[in-house]
Amino acid sequence: MKTIIIHSQDLSLAQRLSLSLKGELEQRKKHFRIHTSNNFNLTHLRELNKVDLNLISETFNFSEVKLLVSDMDSTLITIETINEIAKVAGMSNEVTEITEQAMLGNLEFTESFKKRVSILNGVNISLFETVFDNHLQLSPGVPELIKSFKSLGIKSAIVSGGLVYFAERLKSQLGLDTFQANNVEINNNCLTGKVLGKVIDASEKANYIYELCELYQLETDQVIAIGDGANDLEMMKIAGISVAYRAKPVLEEKCDIVINYSGLDSVLNFFDYDS
Ligand SMILES: [Mg+2]
Repeated sequence: MKTIIIHSQDLSLAQRLSLSLKGELEQRKKHFRIHTSNNFNLTHLRELNKVDLNLISETFNFSEVKLLVSDMDSTLITIETINEIAKVAGMSNEVTEITEQAMLGNLEFTESFKKRVSILNGVNISLFETVFDNHLQLSPGVPELIKSFKSLGIKSAIVSGGLVYFAERLKSQLGLDTFQANNVEINNNCLTGKVLGKVIDASEKANYIYELCELYQLETDQVIAIGDGANDLEMMKIAGISVAYRAKPVLEEKCDIVINYSGLDSVLNFFDYDS
């Protein structure tokens, strides 16, 4: 017997799916569950019905989760901040193209980041504020997810291959516990095109989970990681549970939970909380 979560409140869709899977339908407060012994192809069902469907693991205990580690760009927020800086600065779409290739896993992250920062040489950092204030939007469901996690005693952290400025402000805005992101050199309020310190790439993101587990005295199994790009792959391998949010295929196929249609608060459907 398997249990599928339908991350939707559409009753007729739930009934149709349940019938096709010869399952037993269970209505929860904000989602449905189907209990079935039938065989099914989850990827196919998702695409066919344009709805988020996930299996409930028989071995993972969500009540043990004590730490959320999330990517920032295209995960907690809808934009890639470095692309927006380039756009606001009136630069070519070279930066956007490099970001896309890096997120797909076609380019090595550290080199791609250094290249993008070098292109931004001379950009005034006042544009960071412009991007944050005028272009940055939270992904749907983010405030609800963070608020609920807080009430469950789950700590939250951002780990970003983007810039400290954005991760720090977003951390404050959302009331998260901590963050890690990239430092860049600034001179006379302008980017010099140089990166300071080590770049937060895929393996550094994974290392950050180990660091936080040490700090908070947790096991990596107690971590839920959320991301969308190839540079989130390594941290997904060590987190207890991994979530691909509107993710690149290379990441999606490696994650436990896939969210492509609903908001990030759909993750709450796995927890015994207002679900
Ligand atoms: Mg991302």
